[in-house]
Amino acid sequence: MGTIYDVVVVGLGVMGEATLWGLAEQNLRVLGIEARAPGHCEGSSHGASRIFRRAYWEGEQYISMLNHADQRWRSLQELSATPLIYETGGVFIGPKGSGMVAGSIDTARRALVEHTEWSARQVKISLPVFSVDSNCHAVYEPGAYAIAAQGARSKMLLVATRQGAELLYGDAVVCISKQHKGFRVYTRRGRCVTTNSIVLTAGPWLSDWVPELKARLLPRRVPVCWFEPRKGMASHFNNLNFPVFLYELSNGGLLYGLPSISHKEPGVKIGFHNRQQTSCMLGANSEEVSLLLVKEISESVSGILPGLEMMPAKAKACIYTMSQDESFCIGRVQGYENMFAASACSGHGFKFAPAIGDVLASLVVGETPPVAIDSFGIDRFSSK
Ligand SMILES: Cc1cc2nc3c(=O)[nH]c(=O)nc-3n(C[C@H](O)[C@H](O)[C@H](O)COP(=O)(O)OP(=O)(O)OC[C@H]3O[C@@H](n4cnc5c(N)ncnc54)[C@H](O)[C@@H]3O)c2cc1C
Repeated sequence: MGTIYDVVVVGLGVMGEATLWGLAEQNLRVLGIEARAPGHCEGSSHGASRIFRRAYWEGEQYISMLNHADQRWRSLQELSATPLIYETGGVFIGPKGSGMVAGSIDTARRALVEHTEWSARQVKISLPVFSVDSNCHAVYEPGAYAIAAQGARSKMLLVATRQGAELLYGDAVVCISKQHKGFRVYTRRGRCVTTNSIVLTAGPWLSDWVPELKARLLPRRVPVCWFEPRKGMASHFNNLNFPVFLYELSNGGLLYGLPSISHKEPGVKIGFHNRQQTSCMLGANSEEVSLLLVKEISESVSGILPGLEMMPAKAKACIYTMSQDESFCIGRVQGYENMFAASACSGHGFKFAPAIGDVLASLVVGETPPVAIDSFGIDRFSSK
């Protein structure tokens, strides 16, 4: 008889990797199965950088997860010889009346996140690379940072495998069958493994396994661009001088951006968080971005950051898995005692990954999660 695993984790994007890290620390026999090659570009987790911020306009319900994740990113940093955290600070700018700026201030005040509220004049003095009109205001969060996404993912896997986690790449899970006790997991290449518990972290493919989420989780293609600084402007945009940012435009468009923290990415990475999302057929999309979308983003960027080149050096399409309320789904899968799942995208999940990994690990072993997840239950849509 083959190995019986305590847990099989299906899907090794950042959520699956963080879950392996959390599970391996519990000394469990764990196998992670990933359909594609390590570092592939088809899900949502690839790329060099992600924003971490705590003045969270999306709401105070995220704060305990953010605090836990921050501690875990920092503990991962201590284990790493290369930087995983770039302490850039973060600025969140918008017109007066911007829900994003008001929400950032509200959460920062309630959760005692260190921050400063800035007038348009103060933005111009402190961060003159941003073009702001007099109707704008902003929040500056000194503790916001950029995560070296690829490096952090590799490190989580390394720590997990050193603690005994096993990995299987390039083989998709095609069937999960419930046994008297536990599950059998079958893969496309003909492997069959037995496990007591399952964690599903399959990103945009999650609803293949959790059908009640089918209508609730919608994969969307969304472009992201890299803009190089104009001649003589490079030092203004490096990660020592330029913060991670959100900028709400007067027309409601919300741009996010962060300085380059890797030689693999040319210049400042910028995308729309709430625009340019198109429907997407999984596995059948190219990374190409239409000229129309590139033009729209370029015009917006030149309006707010005139020190960047007009046209991006690079543009590519990625995937957001949007939930109905743009939040996360984490918990036990209905009808199964030992099957758990997490969909944490809607374009803002990466920063939470180590907290979500620890939550899933504690659910698997029947412990109370380290942070409350009541707002993120998988069944919250059906109970409305
Ligand atoms: C352009 C962009 C910018 C972003 N910026 C930020 C940011 O600044 N800050 C932030 O916090 N978040 C950000 N996000 C969101 C964040 O990246 C996502 O929330 C996160 O990556 C989701 O990870 P995941 O592991 O759930 O999904 P995925 O990365 O999609 O991973 C799912 C994995 O499951 C595998 N899989 C699927 N089905 C199977 C199967 N049957 N068998 C085996 N494997 C399977 C897939 O191959 C894939 O590798 C951004 C996202 C994008 C796209």
